[in-house]
Amino acid sequence: MPFTELGLAPELSRAVAEQGYETPTPIQLQAIPAVIAGRDVLAGAQTGTGKTAAFVLPILQALAQGAAGRAPRALVLTPTRELAAQVAESARQYGRHTKTRICVVFGGVSINPQIDALRAGCDLLVATPGRLLDLAGQRALDLREVRHFVLDEADRMLDMGFIHAIRQVLKLLPERRQNLMFSATYSDDIRELARRLLRDPVSVEVAPRNATADRVEQRAYRVPKEHKRHLLAHLIRDGGWHQVLVFTRTKHGANRLAEQLAASGIATAAIHGNKSQNARVRALSEFKSGKITALVATEVAARGLDIKELPFVVNYELPNVPEDYVHRIGRTARAGGAGCAISLVAPDEGGLLKDIERLLRRSLQITATPEFVVTQEPRSAPRPAAPPARASQPKHPPARHPRPSGRSFGSQGGRRFGSSRG
Ligand code: AMP
Repeated sequence: MPFTELGLAPELSRAVAEQGYETPTPIQLQAIPAVIAGRDVLAGAQTGTGKTAAFVLPILQALAQGAAGRAPRALVLTPTRELAAQVAESARQYGRHTKTRICVVFGGVSINPQIDALRAGCDLLVATPGRLLDLAGQRALDLREVRHFVLDEADRMLDMGFIHAIRQVLKLLPERRQNLMFSATYSDDIRELARRLLRDPVSVEVAPRNATADRVEQRAYRVPKEHKRHLLAHLIRDGGWHQVLVFTRTKHGANRLAEQLAASGIATAAIHGNKSQNARVRALSEFKSGKITALVATEVAARGLDIKELPFVVNYELPNVPEDYVHRIGRTARAGGAGCAISLVAPDEGGLLKDIERLLRRSLQITATPEFVVTQEPRSAPRPAAPPARASQPKHPPARHPRPSGRSFGSQGGRRFGSSRG
């Protein structure tokens, strides 16, 4: 079915066509008519399904029909700054032929320009909870005109401890409004939140939640923890990868790995919650433009990142929560494309791998680990802020083989490591 049959106004259909979208995705097909009809919606959909357009388009349509004042008439709450910025950017694209005024507010940056923007008038506001409550507390924001409320990535909101903030926000909204809730997973807490928030909702479920996972080529390598970075560097160089998103479990781990990859000559940046907003935006844009090859991220920082045609995702460490695996690999193979997700599995991560396989209802293919070079860190290497990882001490004798493709693997040369077994 073409977009034109979803009941969208011509200026929205035009913007959609300019984005190059030919047909609606399943979530759009189901959600757009329901939202246009004014229904509350509970949608089970993860990033990459086209969920943003599924709620932004019909809301833009409703806004264009109503009378604009100064206060926002639609509010989208997101868990992270990146997602807020991305949703606002999409809304600006989709709303480019309408007069809708779109504002975005999140923490980590100066509040004054946000206050000024809201004063100038806003129809659709995209916000993270903390800054939203700040602005409301300072009376810089009036939420009483909100008629459409979207809770995006509700599961992640709860994971991040935003339940109290959400309740506070809800108190500031008028009783009569349309509510849309998006969540990639359903826990009891999510169901409870949905029960409180939504009135007679239309439930929309796009495919089982591992549908994206099915389109992604998934590989796992067994590798000792201390050799992971060498294997990763090898995979990046040997495979000629130009864009890879690497997940670590901790901020500290992200920093350390970024420094190690950079030291071995791979253009790398890290993004996580301790980085300033500006540093995160810069890293992301350099990654998107191809200036940076590897972006090392924590789960939370990478949530909702939309990088077009991201070819590789690496689970440097397996996530503790198996659902996060699906979120992570959903960064690749977006909107129908193909992608490759690679997991580096240390001996003590076998249990986590089992949990993931249980969720996916299939086993992950263990690929024979390729031979790779384990390097000693040169003593003169710049000392990272965090304690440097100990150089690995492989039990194998030093390599006699020439280094692959003549690249330098560190001033002290390297050793080969690898196994032909799975
Ligand atoms: P989302 O799930 O909202 O993060 O969207 C994932 C990606 O799909 C974004 O890059 C969108 O630009 C893209 N997208 C959204 N709707 C469509 C569509 N109908 N056809 C093709 N791509 C789309």
